[in-house]
Amino acid sequence: MRMNIDYWNKSIETGDREVLEKTQLADLRKTVDQALKTDFYGKRLRTEGIESGEDIRSIADLHRIPYTTKQDLRDAYPYGLLAIPLSEVVRLHVSSGTTGIPTVIYHSQADLNSWTDLGARSVIATGAGKDDVFQNMMTYGLFTGGLGLHYGGERAGMLVIPASSGNTQRQIKLMHDFKTTVVHATPSYMLHLAARMQNDGVDPASLSLRKAFVGAEPHSENVRLKIEELFGIDVYNSYGLSEMNGPAVAFECVYKKGMHVWEDAYIMEVVDPETGEPVEDGQSGELVFTTLKREATPLLRYRTRDLSFVYDTECECGRKHRRIGRIKGRTDDMLIINGVNIYPSQIEEAIMRLPEIGNNYQIIVEKSGALDKLTVKTEVRKSIFSDDAREINALRKRAIENLKSSIIVTPIVEFHEPGILPVQEGKAKRVFDMRKEEQA
Ligand code: ADP
Ligand code: ZN
Repeated sequence: MRMNIDYWNKSIETGDREVLEKTQLADLRKTVDQALKTDFYGKRLRTEGIESGEDIRSIADLHRIPYTTKQDLRDAYPYGLLAIPLSEVVRLHVSSGTTGIPTVIYHSQADLNSWTDLGARSVIATGAGKDDVFQNMMTYGLFTGGLGLHYGGERAGMLVIPASSGNTQRQIKLMHDFKTTVVHATPSYMLHLAARMQNDGVDPASLSLRKAFVGAEPHSENVRLKIEELFGIDVYNSYGLSEMNGPAVAFECVYKKGMHVWEDAYIMEVVDPETGEPVEDGQSGELVFTTLKREATPLLRYRTRDLSFVYDTECECGRKHRRIGRIKGRTDDMLIINGVNIYPSQIEEAIMRLPEIGNNYQIIVEKSGALDKLTVKTEVRKSIFSDDAREINALRKRAIENLKSSIIVTPIVEFHEPGILPVQEGKAKRVFDMRKEEQA
């Protein structure tokens, strides 16, 4: 299918990979020089015999640099990874993650400028642009989701409504009054928004909305399709993490077939999470990124713990930046239930294949004697509760069968009316592993 394609930095996006790799090497050397100015990398790189960016002769020399982990960032808190004088820093973002130990990323004006450009490039890649009204429903604050795409949206010329997250009623009113055409939200919030509208007797497809950028949490292709269908729009996957700025690390283009990683700004590696060895294109592995355009907080070979794969084909849009597939989850999300390894995304994929099954779900793992017990709670359309009991039992049976064939383990499936399971303003919390909480 031919599409109308717009580029923000056409030569950077569609230029030969040879040229791209040359600029990557030049920027990697600069980044290593920057990193050497920090307490953390100053010690670590010198131990490896790297005294200057000049010591990096090719991209392959990247392997001389050890990986950087989330724990390294925690240990370096608050200033151990700062490479410029504090007087040159214009913003910071702090992430507390789930464990509560903070990490911090600083940005200079130049850092923000290149991030803004990546944001504009991402937005334009989806076909959005200056005629759009962009309601940004990601949280503004220390979390990078809101501010992260705000400036890129403005730079792309869109009218940006900095709505931030929550207050669903006001979101709907803003969408209605200002004829919002593009939104940015978590996929779970999009589903909640649709349910809320339907509850109020408003057809989500009756708005002016054309596109949604969804990210910040794992979601399946079925969830994308569900959101597209409910609102009658195109939904684009958006990936980022605060360590690599935030949103606009990787974004889907109009073809919606994987996310282009902006490789002039990041060197991407995909490695086996156990051994740290590279995996082949198409194979699943952990994403590892090196910043190329950051002076305040350069990060080298950062282990994201996010699992994905690289497409081994070129995209029809003409961009030469490689694409990654939907994020399957984080290495530390994996649940071991009665000895079987399961990712929450497999459970979502299996239940969302059933059209009767609604927008919200929870995964609960408990100890039951010596064994683990898995319960999947999910919302289903209201009418099913008034139907014949046989129907609900048949649906439960199908849900259990779907789950069993994908995760091997046989779960208990509980159905709830829409709106019963709790909704989070930011990232959805789906997994409740009581075994951990018992130990804690
Ligand atoms: P925290 O680390 O506290 O969750 P971040 O904002 O840095 O805060 O979260 C980034 C993480 O969110 C990523 O490492 C990834 O696990 C997840 N994430 C971001 N975008 C997506 C996406 N499109 N699909 C799946 N997961 C995503
Ligand atoms: Zn493309």
